[in-house]
Amino acid sequence: MPILVMKFGGTSVADLERIANVAEKVRREVERGYHVIVIVSAMAGKTNELVKWVNETSAFYDAREYDAVVSSGENVTAGLMALRLQEVGVPARSWQGWQVPINTTSQHGSARFVSIPRANIDAKFAEGMKVAVVAGFQGVSPEGRITTLGRGGSDTTAVAFAAAFDAERCDIYTDVDGIYTTDPRITSKARKLEKISYEEMLELASLGAKVLQTRSVELAMRYKVRLRVLSSFDETDETSGTLVCDEEEIMESKVVSGVAHSRDEAKITLFTIEDRPGIAAAIFGPLAEAGVNVDMIVQNISEKDYDEAHAGAVTDMTFSCPVDQVARAKKAMEEAKAAGKINYDELIIDTDVSKVSVVGIGMRSHAGVAAKMFKALSGENINIKVISTSEIKISVLIDRKYMELAVQTLHDAFALDSAV
Ligand code: ASP
Ligand code: MG
Repeated sequence: MPILVMKFGGTSVADLERIANVAEKVRREVERGYHVIVIVSAMAGKTNELVKWVNETSAFYDAREYDAVVSSGENVTAGLMALRLQEVGVPARSWQGWQVPINTTSQHGSARFVSIPRANIDAKFAEGMKVAVVAGFQGVSPEGRITTLGRGGSDTTAVAFAAAFDAERCDIYTDVDGIYTTDPRITSKARKLEKISYEEMLELASLGAKVLQTRSVELAMRYKVRLRVLSSFDETDETSGTLVCDEEEIMESKVVSGVAHSRDEAKITLFTIEDRPGIAAAIFGPLAEAGVNVDMIVQNISEKDYDEAHAGAVTDMTFSCPVDQVARAKKAMEEAKAAGKINYDELIIDTDVSKVSVVGIGMRSHAGVAAKMFKALSGENINIKVISTSEIKISVLIDRKYMELAVQTLHDAFALDSAV
């Protein structure tokens, strides 16, 4: 029998009524002839509560016990879902990570998959079980201890099962009905996409379209798992939601597929640094050690590039990072300066910036996207502070107060409200 993976996020299993509602969706797929592997999250808010309890008990907690506690939310949902399915006549059984077993590394709190052997679950399917309900977000380490995958990890569990069991598709049920051309809260012209490529979704996922954990999209791309995002609150059928798939499955796409945004960014400039080999490493090494997620980087041209005679050439370095990491970044730079590893005249920090990006695989073969983007922004008098590009993305840093306007303007400029 073909296998389907269905994943339900926290809001989709927030109470018993919602569990009953999604169990009905599972029952229908069983009736269509599938063996179903259901991956569940903890009930909405549960994981946050468990994390809080751990922190309140122990400030410098033992990560193994953190995992023992925070993995428990999923166990409850898995058992309840199996019970509910049995109530409506579907042979179902729940599985915790260690029972499958879901083998992971022993990096507690951010473990990675090693293997998911099929034998145990397949044996139960052979005995007549129709649905395996598996607790998401967790696994077991080589030492035999419970691990977790990092917040949002049950998306990745779902994709890993789809890959391990050669599933026909991996349906991710959530509280939105698909992937949109941009955030519908910013413009009512946002349009739901029927299909989007893995690469575009990766850019959107990491740019703050928080529908899927980025790792799950990476895994789906690697194993070519067809991923569908759809709402657990709507009536759904084969055509609902958005399919995340290989670009070859997408007949025609626009040059730009979406406009992404990331509201809370900061821009940090090290003014007047030495221009010598090793200076970038001396700056970004300590930032990495301090756990700062540096995003865009711009180094000015050196004075000596236009004035050969200029002795003791200097330059400036600018980078961006999430606003809540600014304090850490500042401390790392001040310490590096105090230790004599770097030198700068001034550290200029701007915490009022946002990042807006246009994303599309069509950019690979079409020129002029950057020009069109910059022209549209200038038409609204929006100043661009930093620009960065990749093969399928152009990002700009702008003042936060213009973020909504920039998204709306770019959505219009690339006519994303229409499918053609
Ligand atoms: N329950 C976990 C979390 O809230 C994992 C997940 O739902 O994906 O992060
Ligand atoms: Mg999630």
